[in-house]
Amino acid sequence: ITITNHIQGSAKESDFELKVVPLRLSVEPGSSAVILKNLWVSIDPYQLNRMKRYSSSHKTVQPAVRITPGQPIDSPGVARVLVSDDPEFVKDDLVEGFVHWGEYTVVKGGMLRKLDPEIDLPLSYHAGVLGMSGLTAYAGLFEICKAKKGDKVFVSAACGSVGNLVGQYAKLSGCYVVGCAGSRDKVALLKEKLGFDDAFNYKEETDLNSALARYFPDGIDIYFDNVGGEMLEAAVANMNTCGRVAACGAIAEYSEGAKRAAPNMVDVIYKRIKIQGFLAIDHMSLHSDFLSTTTDYIHNGKIKVQEDISSGVESIPSAFIGLFRGDNIGKKIVKIADE
Ligand code: NDP
Repeated sequence: ITITNHIQGSAKESDFELKVVPLRLSVEPGSSAVILKNLWVSIDPYQLNRMKRYSSSHKTVQPAVRITPGQPIDSPGVARVLVSDDPEFVKDDLVEGFVHWGEYTVVKGGMLRKLDPEIDLPLSYHAGVLGMSGLTAYAGLFEICKAKKGDKVFVSAACGSVGNLVGQYAKLSGCYVVGCAGSRDKVALLKEKLGFDDAFNYKEETDLNSALARYFPDGIDIYFDNVGGEMLEAAVANMNTCGRVAACGAIAEYSEGAKRAAPNMVDVIYKRIKIQGFLAIDHMSLHSDFLSTTTDYIHNGKIKVQEDISSGVESIPSAFIGLFRGDNIGKKIVKIADE
């Protein structure tokens, strides 16, 4: 799957194209190249920032990470090695890393990590809860926000891939947790299955500021922000002194022309609020901690894994576009091939 053009406004099906190109099942000696059969592909909102049209003066998303129309789109995923020129990998190894939105990937071996055969859990988990989404939740909550017992935590897009894990980790750490999501079914899931103390449908609220005041009469200590925009503004207005905000994502602001909002900076200063942006990839030092803790939690039934699965390469564009409509419940992944 490629983009046909740089995306303007919201992503739509016509922005994508399924291309069929021949694949040579051999690698140049000395190239360190590995050919992978893709099994699971992670579908993530941040890809829109790589696909968008930018003016030449734009500095935030570097040209090197932008997606070029007609070129493969790489994303986290799980795959099986078919051919390898990298001595670290042999045929049939199972790996995670950046794979293409397609059936096969050709990549340098250095970009891949072998899956730990000791982890006896579904392979798809490595594209979500044990992959980048899980690490994002773990790093944002514990490293950026220093969550501790008794903290009052608010998380947006709480039924999404990152958000549901933030809430579950926070509950396991003894925090009081409220999430917001975009439908009644999602709210019910958060409260009844995932153990959130409370949850609300932000689409049914006319005034986000007073909604948060209702759910947090004693103020918010930590806001894990997945959406940006007006929700960030309202959360900051309800934060306690020395509150922490993990600026993880701003999905409400990703589409060109989206409405933007900003927190009241006088509030930020007088309440000594720390707002910190972060990227999970900068927190790989936590990876082994994160993996062993999360694997144990899953085995003990303390973390409930939420996956939302589509099948086949051709389903990738609609899976991606659906993230921006809130179609997904939990981690959106596409199954590309049988394991
Ligand atoms: P999700 O699985 O949560 O999917 C996106 C969800 O966001 C949707 O299901 C929808 O749920 C909600 N949403 C969509 N549009 C809006 C909107 N306009 N306003 C409010 N909510 C909206 O995605 P992820 O969990 O994978 O990612 C969550 C955030 O974290 C994203 O912003 C992403 O870019 C970011 N991220 C950041 C990383 C980092 O390293 N900093 C790494 C990974 C992700 P609903 O029904 O509730 O509206």
